[in-house]
Amino acid sequence: MSENKNLRKCTRCHSTKLEKYFSINTKGEFYKTCDNCRKHDVEYREQNKDKIKAKKKEYNENNKDKVKEYQLKYNEANKDKIAEKNKQYREQHKDRIRAYDRARTISFSVAIDGEINPTVTLVD
Ligand SMILES: [Zn+2]
Repeated sequence: MSENKNLRKCTRCHSTKLEKYFSINTKGEFYKTCDNCRKHDVEYREQNKDKIKAKKKEYNENNKDKVKEYQLKYNEANKDKIAEKNKQYREQHKDRIRAYDRARTISFSVAIDGEINPTVTLVD
């Protein structure tokens, strides 16, 4: 089966195109929208970052239980993948993580020794 002769329909612009005009997502499946539409999506997301972020936040706030449940389910189903990703991340950001841990230890000990400001805000 030569994949480039297969046709797919874009769910956004509803045009039927060869599969080569559709990218493949991280799950190894074709995106539902064609590359042309996705390009616009990416541009839109770039231009409306704050708006999208605010909407996401609002959604998460209004659907806390649902989001939590989904996250649990997702984590459960993707344990190995997440562990692998975490490992990769730690490997890639070794120095930063070490510096962060050090900073955290320092601010923590300062808070305890100084007894002035026991609330330590960690900024990542
Ligand atoms: Zn399209």
